[in-house]
Amino acid sequence: MGSRPIIGITLAHDPEKGRFFCREAYLDAVQRAGGVPVLLPPVQKQDSLQVYRDLVAGLLLSGGGDLHPSFFGEDPCWKLGEVSLVRDKFEIALVKLVLDAGKPVLGICRGIQVLNVALGGTLYQDLSSQAPASLQHIQRGARKEPAHEVEIKKGSLLASVLGAERIWVNSFHHQAVKDVAPSLEAVAWSADGVVEAVELPGHDFVVGVQWHPEDLLEEEHAVALFRAFVAAAEQ
Ligand code: MN
Repeated sequence: MGSRPIIGITLAHDPEKGRFFCREAYLDAVQRAGGVPVLLPPVQKQDSLQVYRDLVAGLLLSGGGDLHPSFFGEDPCWKLGEVSLVRDKFEIALVKLVLDAGKPVLGICRGIQVLNVALGGTLYQDLSSQAPASLQHIQRGARKEPAHEVEIKKGSLLASVLGAERIWVNSFHHQAVKDVAPSLEAVAWSADGVVEAVELPGHDFVVGVQWHPEDLLEEEHAVALFRAFVAAAEQ
């Protein structure tokens, strides 16, 4: 293993308390995979964004609240949850820069949605009202307990990284990818057809997953995902 790569992690926003924060599971997962986590609070200026782009060897877009639908051309529906324009604008701008630099990206939960919207895709603002036949995607069990199965596309990067074409995952989302961005490819689905993972063909490692692998580190597939991400950042 070479020198440990810096993995930038975006933060959740709690505007009421005036703070940004990171769940420790992300820090553990990145370190166990050989990376050094560095937390990235939102910045707005382009030259500040470029400093982040140059600093990180890989970018982890973390989970959290909803994306504002204005970023994919819609008005908010009634069941849209908490949003943060500060976080949305920052993450969309940063992921574009990091992708242009050819660096690896792992989007988790909200992160797959940011990746999709940044590249021109759309979201379900709320599955329960906009796709009512979908299965339960906000599980009631513990975060480390898988809730539903996903089928992974044969021959995809994700299938080769995970070494499996069917896995059980946890699920804590009421938004989801609707129209996949033109440059992205859907590579995993739950039984109801909801997109559970995407990747960007032609890049070493640009993957978004709708589940929370950082809470599933007892599962080999979750460990393998972080290892592949950090290994791509090492190069
Ligand atoms: Mn799900």
